Amino acid sequence: GNGIVLTIFAAKLKIDIMAGNRTFTMIKPDAVENGHIGAILEQITASGFRIVAMKLTQMTRRDAEKFYEVHAERPFYGELVEFMSRGPIVAAILEKENAVEDFRTLIGATNPEDAAEGTIRKKYATSVGENAVHGSDSDENAKIEGAFHFSGREMF
Ligand code: ADP
Repeated sequence: GNGIVLTIFAAKLKIDIMAGNRTFTMIKPDAVENGHIGAILEQITASGFRIVAMKLTQMTRRDAEKFYEVHAERPFYGELVEFMSRGPIVAAILEKENAVEDFRTLIGATNPEDAAEGTIRKKYATSVGENAVHGSDSDENAKIEGAFHFSGREMF
């Protein structure tokens, strides 16, 4: 009836309004293997991000190929796909004012050697490839990447 239509409309409106304030992250296989899930989540939540969705999961090779499709022509693509599908990851959607940019600041530069002191990659990454965490680079990609891993019912 009209109730359900209105509920769906309201839910979509809420998602659209909040969209600029959400980002998508993965704790990558290296950081999971090295036992850093707890410390990384602690730093994320202590920095003011609210967890909107979260799960421990593993990408298949095909999932990783699709997720990183924009990098298909880069020389490290094969290595990246192999790495990202080799073990479990923690996937999560995070909410905060200015989430995308603030989260990129929190994780630091792609290469941990260039990452600022105190950033998650500086503390937990092992190399430019195995760099502990992912963070979306735009609001649009945050939406696409979040939807890649989560259904609407898994976002809170
Ligand atoms: P970021 O994740 O910081 O946005 P990019 O979008 O450039 O960085 O690259 C995506 C991911 O590909 C990186 O996080 C890293 O895991 C991997 N990567 C980037 N550059 C290299 C490289 N030179 N060699 C191996 N892996 C790389």
